[in-house]
Amino acid sequence: MTHPCLSCGACCAHFRVAFHWMEADTEGGGVVPPEFTEKLDMHRLAMHGTNQKHPRCRSLVGKVGEAAHCGIYERRPSPCHDLIPAWEDGNPSPQCDRARAAHGLPPLTPESFAS
Ligand code: SF4
Ligand code: SF4
Repeated sequence: MTHPCLSCGACCAHFRVAFHWMEADTEGGGVVPPEFTEKLDMHRLAMHGTNQKHPRCRSLVGKVGEAAHCGIYERRPSPCHDLIPAWEDGNPSPQCDRARAAHGLPPLTPESFAS
């Protein structure tokens, strides 16, 4: 089974991805590449490209709804870790559904993860 996120990427082109600046403080143990972030306010950064009317994270590679993946997957920030694809762990995910709907994609179902 190919993971459904690899033919989606919708959440990376729908939400503002904001997090504490320390996540990109590589000298202090942060892992997010600073060059892929932009300053949001005193305490927070956003993934570059996500704080705009039509967001698209600069780290997203490929075409939404066809073939897409995170170019910094191992170093992605906490909001990206926290967004679990719908039904991957047996639970719905309104965020996943919303992002997919915004890109004209149907919601995932439990069958999306059937092998
Ligand atoms: S919207 Fe859902 S299926 Fe699409 S990439 Fe994000 S988590 Fe994966
Ligand atoms: S860092 Fe990766 S997972 Fe997070 S929004 Fe950007 S492309 Fe998506």
